Amino acid sequence: MYKIKPLKQAEISAPLGVVLMLGDMTKLLTAPVYVWYIEGDDTKILVDAGIEEPTDGFVHGFPVSGGGENGLRKALEEVGVKPEDIDVLILTHLHFDHVACATLFHNARIYVQKKEWESALNPPMHYRLTYDPKLFQPIENMDLCLVNGDKEVDDGLKLVLLPGHTKGLQGVAVETEKGTHLIAGDHFYTYVNLDPPKQQAEIADLKGSKVSIQPILLPFAPMGLHVDLTEWYDSCFKALSVARRKNILPGHEPSIFGKTFP
Ligand SMILES: [Zn+2]
Repeated sequence: MYKIKPLKQAEISAPLGVVLMLGDMTKLLTAPVYVWYIEGDDTKILVDAGIEEPTDGFVHGFPVSGGGENGLRKALEEVGVKPEDIDVLILTHLHFDHVACATLFHNARIYVQKKEWESALNPPMHYRLTYDPKLFQPIENMDLCLVNGDKEVDDGLKLVLLPGHTKGLQGVAVETEKGTHLIAGDHFYTYVNLDPPKQQAEIADLKGSKVSIQPILLPFAPMGLHVDLTEWYDSCFKALSVARRKNILPGHEPSIFGKTFP
């Protein structure tokens, strides 16, 4: 049985319209960039590898603080490990805010979906700016496992292909004392995408700034960034077949900062 700890490697700000399709592009929200530590019996597992350190306050046009190797080491200190201690690194997808420190995991087997790898090297035109090959291409010389679809990588730990946000995004299904949890990566950024409010609601970002959200009469609310929205909806229902909605962990949700699951 495992426990899951989201660790904050950086903070990134983005307009509401990125978090929620057709949302206000003038309202900026600050969100955590997480790496996810999965504590098991003896294997040390990490999901995702963070964002670069900003040089002028920005990474790929988004305001960022923290990040880079310093941000990663600080995040991992919270659970008493170093990048070199990690046995398994799972990359949910290859967007620039999920892979920047991957080359520091010298002793890890690294899991990426084959579809994601191929798509990241030759992305559809509207998605070019979300990938930075210099960040992920060097890992092809490490212990890289390119996976085709769903795969169990350890007892109670399964990769689940969830295309839509990207061509080959994978979630991680983790068996815990309180049932299966699903680390969703960016398939859902926040609980608003996973469980949209049916009445007018307020959401708070990492700094406590609040924005008002109109009722969303849909089972799931898409983000502003997706490669295929039809596939995204299919993957939402696949995610529900893996874990209960309350046990799905969105990739940039501010309110889970500092928590452990279960
Ligand atoms: Zn992403």
